[in-house]
Amino acid sequence: MALMFENTEKAFSHKSNVDLIKAYRLFQTFSSSFIVNYGPIISNWAIRIGIPIKPIIKKTIFHQFCGGESIEESNQFAKKLYEHGIGAILDYSVEGEGTIDNFLKTFEELKRVINEAADKPEYPFAVFKSSGIGSFSVLAAKSANEKLSLEQQNQYDQLVERINFLCKYAHQNKVKLLIDAEETWIQDAIDEIVYSNAKEFNHDDIIVYNTIQLYRKGRIEEIIKQIDLARKFGYKIGFKLVRGAYMEKEADRAQQMNYPNPIQDTKKDSDNDYNQALKICFENRDIVAVMAGTHNEESSLLLAELIENNNISKSDDRFWFAQLYGMSDHISYNLAHKGFNVAKYLPYGPVKEVLPYLSRRAQENSSVKGQTSRELTLIRQELKRRKALK
Ligand SMILES: Cc1cc2nc3c(=O)[nH]c(=O)nc-3n(C[C@H](O)[C@H](O)[C@H](O)COP(=O)(O)OP(=O)(O)OC[C@H]3O[C@@H](n4cnc5c(N)ncnc54)[C@H](O)[C@@H]3O)c2cc1C
Repeated sequence: MALMFENTEKAFSHKSNVDLIKAYRLFQTFSSSFIVNYGPIISNWAIRIGIPIKPIIKKTIFHQFCGGESIEESNQFAKKLYEHGIGAILDYSVEGEGTIDNFLKTFEELKRVINEAADKPEYPFAVFKSSGIGSFSVLAAKSANEKLSLEQQNQYDQLVERINFLCKYAHQNKVKLLIDAEETWIQDAIDEIVYSNAKEFNHDDIIVYNTIQLYRKGRIEEIIKQIDLARKFGYKIGFKLVRGAYMEKEADRAQQMNYPNPIQDTKKDSDNDYNQALKICFENRDIVAVMAGTHNEESSLLLAELIENNNISKSDDRFWFAQLYGMSDHISYNLAHKGFNVAKYLPYGPVKEVLPYLSRRAQENSSVKGQTSRELTLIRQELKRRKALK
């Protein structure tokens, strides 16, 4: 297929030379392990004791990866993406302490995110993390089939109620809702809650999307099982497919607690399962919708080819591609230019509270072989191309 992810002119059409140079310098700093490892700790400390570094963070790493400190600030970036045919997914990326107050604050914010998506075409989905609105330790106890104390049961019931409210609210407002996947030791409980909501709300339209991490072993069987259940009970099912973000944490816990690592043995195994999952979702498209949440070119191309080779409209709402804001624009902009459905997670929240999110982006972009060199090569290529035109 003539789908060129290498087309840097389209990939960076939204960026001025100054923006590109800024992004280049930022990605370059990620090759410093000192900055990646200690930057977030130092920033957190500096903000806490009142050193005015917030404007610096906001102009650099925050500007690259986030929409703003609020929905209102993020709206301008969503609008810009939309001008290029790309949707935005407001991702409230605050990772506070797991207190009831914080859960309720996030829950209220998520209602605003759904309202925004209901009102504006630039937001095709809403998204949330279950551990942002309920207790991580209770989800872990439930996933481990432990007997819950009265207090734990009460907290669990409240979380189930909050998730059900958000799904119902999204359904009433016709907003597609993604639920992120998290650590394996809380995921069984999340899956159970999410699929029960899919059963309740995914009838005419597919509203509730669960996330499957293909870096886990055994997820192909899980997808097939869930599709079979949906067929048996007469509902539809939405999957966001990702490889998975907690690889080191999973390996460390498995080693510490002496159980087999749930992560695939090799990257190739994750890739194979990811691509197989795409094919299974595609083959079951009479009841399945799929979002390819990936920066992997081969997987993105695979879904694009399945759509195109089977003469399915590129704007068919059952098929979406998604990347994170500030990353892999070459995939997002080139796919959107060809007419495919593309969206970018647009994280937002107060600078201090999104530092853990920014720290993960810096870590993810720090490997020499990985994302950074990809981003740097593409930016360099585009700057060279622009210079040659002068
Ligand atoms: C829109 C969007 C939404 C996302 N939502 C979630 C979410 O809800 N939950 C979540 O956990 N993550 C989520 N992620 C992150 C995602 O899981 C990946 O960490 C990230 O996208 C990198 O994988 P990739 O497919 O883009 O690209 P690639 O660069 O091809 O793959 C890198 C990934 O491969 C896997 N991998 C690397 N080395 C090995 C190895 N040795 N053995 C086995 N596997 C390996 C890891 O998952 C690693 O992150 C999301 C990403 C996007 C773009």
